[in-house]
Formats: sequence, structure tokens, C-alpha cells
Amino acid sequence: MAWAPGQRRAEPTLSELRAGRACKDGKGGRDSGGGGGGGGDEGGEGGEGGEGGRGRGWVSSSSYLQPRATGPREAALVFKIKNSMIGAVIGHGGSKIKDIQRGTNTKIQIIKGDPEAEVKIFGSKEMKAKAKAAIEAVIEKRESSYNSEYSADDAASKPSVGRDLTTDNVIREVRPLIDWDHIKAEVADWEKRKWADLPPIRKNFYIESKATSSLSQVEVDIWREENFNVMCDDLKVGEKRSIPNPTCTFEDAFQDYPDLMKNIIKAGFEKPTPIQSQAWPIILQGIDLIGIAQTGTGKTLSYLLPGFIHISSQPTPRKRRNGPGMLVLTPTRELALQVENECSKYSYKSLKSICIYGGGNRREQVKNLTKGIDIIIATPGRLNDLQMNNFVNLGSITYLVLDEADKMLDMGFEPQIMKILLDVRPDRQTVMTSATWPDTIRRLAQSYLKEPMIVYVGSLDLVAVNTVRQNIIVTTEEEKRSLIQEFLHCLSPRDKVIVFVSRKLVADDLASDLSIQGLAVQSLHGNREQWDREQALEDFKSGSVKILIATDLASRGLDVDDITHVYNYDFPRNIEEYVHRIGRTGRAGKTGISITLVTRNNRKIVPELIKILERANQSIPEDLVTMAEQYKKVDE
Ligand code: AMP
Repeated sequence: MAWAPGQRRAEPTLSELRAGRACKDGKGGRDSGGGGGGGGDEGGEGGEGGEGGRGRGWVSSSSYLQPRATGPREAALVFKIKNSMIGAVIGHGGSKIKDIQRGTNTKIQIIKGDPEAEVKIFGSKEMKAKAKAAIEAVIEKRESSYNSEYSADDAASKPSVGRDLTTDNVIREVRPLIDWDHIKAEVADWEKRKWADLPPIRKNFYIESKATSSLSQVEVDIWREENFNVMCDDLKVGEKRSIPNPTCTFEDAFQDYPDLMKNIIKAGFEKPTPIQSQAWPIILQGIDLIGIAQTGTGKTLSYLLPGFIHISSQPTPRKRRNGPGMLVLTPTRELALQVENECSKYSYKSLKSICIYGGGNRREQVKNLTKGIDIIIATPGRLNDLQMNNFVNLGSITYLVLDEADKMLDMGFEPQIMKILLDVRPDRQTVMTSATWPDTIRRLAQSYLKEPMIVYVGSLDLVAVNTVRQNIIVTTEEEKRSLIQEFLHCLSPRDKVIVFVSRKLVADDLASDLSIQGLAVQSLHGNREQWDREQALEDFKSGSVKILIATDLASRGLDVDDITHVYNYDFPRNIEEYVHRIGRTGRAGKTGISITLVTRNNRKIVPELIKILERANQSIPEDLVTMAEQYKKVDE
């Protein structure tokens, strides 16, 4: 990762530093398996490496640290720091410097000098720079904490540099105030230099068809109303652009791309889904897009197909690009695999895609990256790990997708996304999809999209798919087991059900219970090996097993069109997850049924559940209303 010289940065955390460890030469510990990315997909990434070099190779003497063993290496990176900062850099018992060494796979020597101490860093070029930046961040933090000990008035009445006798008779050095304007200017300058000499980028590929341009405003309004009330807006500040008419047929969007049309015809789809009709003319014009679409609405193809055209039509030919053109970030490996599956299904101009996710074979992923890849579909943790270790060049990406951004934030991936995007050119085209539109997602959109348009299906509030009949059973924790058994035993051979539970343990326990009773079930959760998880999904997809017991890991990105029932054995941790779970059925134009068990333990969330049921015109059981009222009273 790179950050600007002088740019203010919080003191690096241990996991951040670890994420930067170099494994390329095999000396720095692992070079396969686990990866080092933080955030981690469920049960996937992160984890302590083998021989991470915990303080390896160093002994400390009174005032400095010395390397114990040195091999053939590059010249040291040498710079000066104030003697007074040595303690901060070394940390308590050497903890800080060990962290930095371990995180960057470098060796660091600090020699106290007069007037300043000398720091020598040994290691690879990139890692030396990283270690230096980490040291500077530590110093900057220490200095700013010194500064904050003085009020503005105090500071004004004292000399800006020099020594000062404070009231508690402790002699301290007074640091000059940080010049933020200067730092900001430096950052801007650094950004400019970093992105200078970029190859040109082409974004607009849209030629409106006659049929689309001849639609009247009334016709467009009627179409939008009839298509799940699609709504669009231009989020550009100032003068608004006109929202393009929807492309009501595949030809309207892709008539100039016969190869793509062939693949669409092969898939046998009748017409574009609402999100596709409205997203395609926007994305094909090169405008950034936020798609608020629930799962199962065809959102993947809404960004993939324009993306294929974008990356295969850039002025720089694929061979000379020296890296991928498209990056799709997804929250889970399941969704990543599903997106890759769609990529291969519509394979256009032999574009090559690769899936990178925690838990998958890291060595294999690294190897595949060297094979001339056009599209990377990745979970943020693992990609960040490979990025930090220089296994992937992100500078060639011109088309970026943040898929299911709300889920990525829920899973704590924001730091990894931030770090990944530091290396993606800022003038790229960006598409973001999300099932919800809370403040956190608005903030993310503001940071990473430029003058986007937004397309959403239905209202901007949380709405459950209207193709699902939602049943609620108010019960007790004790009764849940017999209720589900009764339900599963009554299924018809054509039914396929996904049962959601809150914890991995419950999934295993329920699965073995049901197996003993002669029901064929599979389970899907983060503690299962990757191979087992893929097998479970395959069995469920193919229909050899009709009951899948899953944690929320599977609530999104699970592309199985023929699920007839969603059974919420445990209520999800929030109402958004409820909407996503039930969206696993009623997909691709079919109808579905959801059954949700609600107990006293879930009473907090009941008022929100009632709102969802009301909006979707579902019947609301009396005892659910009673529960909500009781909760309200207690709350008052
Ligand atoms: P997604 O919302 O991207 O997860 O898509 C859900 C499912 O809808 C996937 O299996 C797609 O292959 C399918 N799909 C995508 N576009 C269409 C379409 N225009 N008509 C029917 N099904 C579609």
C-alpha cells in the first residue's frame, strides 16, 4: 500500500502492519494459505503466520537495536529521527519496533546520535519504504500528542521551537504546530505525481437505439411504474444531467455488440430486468452508478455486461495493459464465485477472470494472477493481502465494482477497501450496488464515486421482495426444534428450503439432528472447509439435497433460483439481514414463501419487522403486534 509522504495517518495497527508483510521470497513466513488480510471473510482470512519473525534477528543494547544476522540484501534505507523519539519508535519492551519489523519483514537499526538518531532499515525496497512510513506515523502521533498538551494560548505565548520549563518543572521540547495546509498540499501534489502519465481512458460507449430515444416521458414513467417502480436520480451537485430512457430490450442496449448479444440469447432471457434496463444506458455512457437493488434482481449482469464492453474497448490494448481492467469487490467468497460464474457464462472476447478470496489456495491464486488476467473478482481481505505483497497490479483497473457494499461494510471491510482503492486510478468508472441505502453507504458513495446517478427498484426504504409470502410464527425457544421438524417432514419433493440459523454450532447441531431423522441435509457455515462448503452448495444447487442449513454467510450471493422456502429458524441480527435472507426465494420471476420463528428474545426488532410486513402487504399475526406493544411499554 502507499500513502502520501507527510500525509497524516493514524499510528498503524498491528494487523495493518501484518497485512503488509512480505512473503514473496519465502523468508517472511507464509507464502501460502491463510493470507494476512484483516477483516477476513467468515472463517477465512487472517490468522497468525508461521514463522512471522517475532523480533527475529535483533538484540537490543541500551540505546539501540542491532541486527543479529544479515544476509545478502539491498543497501539500508537511512534517515534521521530526533533522539527524543527513539523511545516511541521502540515502544514498551521493544513492542512497537518488533511490530513494524514483523509487519514489513524488515530489520531496523536505531543508533542514538548527536544531534539526531540514525535509523537504518534493511529489506526489500518497497518494505523499507513501508517501514519508514510506519516509523514516521508513530513519530507524528507522538508529536501531535505533545502538541495537544498545550493550549493554543499557551503555544502563542511560548517560542515555537526550543525548550520550555512547564509548571510541573518537567523540561520538554515544544514542537512547532503541524502545518495542515502544507501537508494537504503535499498530499495533493503526491497524488498528482502518482497518477501522472496514465494511459487515456474511454468510458462512453452508448449509442441510444431508435426505439429507446423515441419513448415519450409518459411512456417512460409508465414503464418505470410497471417495473417495480424503478426510480432514478442524478446525484451530481449543480446542474443535473438528463436521466437516460430505459433500454427495454437487450438489443436497445447491446445492438452494436453482436458477440455479447449471442451470449444473452444463449442464456434464454426474455427481457432485461428493471435494474438492467435502467442501469445499462447510464453505465454505458461512462457515468458512475449506485444501484440499490435487492438480491435476485439481475444486478450482477447490470454491471458485468457494460464492464465487458468497457475493458475490451480501451485505447490501451489488453496485452499492453499489464494488469486487470476490471475489479469486482464482493463481501463473501460465495458471491465472488457466483459473479465469476456469471462472467464465464457470458464470456466476451475471451476475457479472462479470476476469483480471489480468503480460504482459497493463496499460492494458486498468486500463480493465476500472472496469467494475463482481465477481471478480478475478490473479497477485500485477500486482495489487500496480495496487494500489500505486490502480487497484483491494481493500477491498470479502469472499471471498478463494489458489489453489495452494505454487506462489505457490515463485515468490517472498510479499511481493506480503503487500502485497495488507494492503488486504483481515481478517474476510473465506479459502480456500487447495495441492497440498502443507509448513511454509511451514502458516505462510502461520496468518497469513492464521482458525480454518480442512482437507480433503485422500489422505495429507498428497506423493502422486501414482493414475490415472497412472509409467514411469521410467534413461539418460544423450546418449541423451535419441533416446529422445524414438523415443517421439514411436510415438504413436497419439489420443495427446496434454506434454513437460516444464527450460529455455526446451531447449524451443526440441527443438521445432525435432522440427518438422524432420515432427512438429507447439508450445512454451510464458516467453520467448514472450503471444499466442504463448495460441495454443500453444489449438492443444494443440483437438488441432490433439498435442505440447506446456513448461517448468514449464505444469505447473499447464493445464486439458486429454485429455492421455494426460506426458514428463519433464528431471527437474524438485524432487519436488513431479514430482507436479504427472504430474498433467497422468489427469485428470477418465481414466487416463494418465508417462515420466520420469532421469540421473546427478538422482541426489540419486532416493530421494524412489522413495518416490513406492512409495506409488503403481508398479514401480521396478533401476537406479533402484542409483542411489539409490550416491548414499547417496557421501553417507555
Ligand atoms: P443477481 O441479482 O445478479 O443475483 O441475479 C439473479 C439471477 O437472475 C441470476 O441467476 C441471473 O442469471 C438471473 N438473471 C439475470 N438477468 C436476467 C434476466 N434479464 N432475466 C431473467 N433472469 C435473469
